[in-house]
Amino acid sequence: MSINELKLPAEATDNRVLMHSCCAPCAGDLMERMKESGIALTILFYNPNIHPKKEYEIRKNENIRFAEKMEIPFIDLDYDVQNWFARAKGLENAPERGERCTKCFDMRFERTALYAAENNFKIITSSLGISRWKDMDQINDCGIRAAKNYAGISYWTFNWRKEGGAARMYEIAKREEFYKQEYCGCIFSLRDTNNWRKSKGREEIKIGEEFYAEKIGVSEGEEL
Ligand code: SF4
Repeated sequence: MSINELKLPAEATDNRVLMHSCCAPCAGDLMERMKESGIALTILFYNPNIHPKKEYEIRKNENIRFAEKMEIPFIDLDYDVQNWFARAKGLENAPERGERCTKCFDMRFERTALYAAENNFKIITSSLGISRWKDMDQINDCGIRAAKNYAGISYWTFNWRKEGGAARMYEIAKREEFYKQEYCGCIFSLRDTNNWRKSKGREEIKIGEEFYAEKIGVSEGEEL
């Protein structure tokens, strides 16, 4: 599918973007669009929210597989889960898109902005907002707040869902047969999704078993 060429914000004078990636399915369209638009993209994977470690490794390795295929640099940062649990403390029962998620996005974007400052990136952005399950305004607020800690760094609030982005996300996931995650990522979202599935008479999530393929779609309640 041909896509419209992306226009970077005026501050991107060096044509470089540091993109925080949450997973391969969400990042796929951003990666292809930026590459096709001639943007010098670097991927940063920092997601200590993902639980358990087995799920974290699968999501990360799927993202690395696609980055290598597309020859896009991939920065793999720490899995510092203790810091993540410290931030989420007291918010274990907050709903998705609530206060725990704000702290979760803050943590991931603060690390992204720090890396950008240390490595002379002017623009950061994220794949998180392409998912229909996420609150775009919440994500943009967190991204802008993190970038403001450093002079000369901006968070790019482009709406990746538009211009067919949401549809292409699924097309790419199926074409590349990405791992099909079925919850947002943290232990609390795993618990809540399993509770929802039980209420619908469905089986609990089995980590590491589902992959996108041309023959499967996305059902109600699944994370993407
Ligand atoms: S539900 Fe998702 S965004 Fe919210 S805290 Fe958990 S992993 Fe982070």
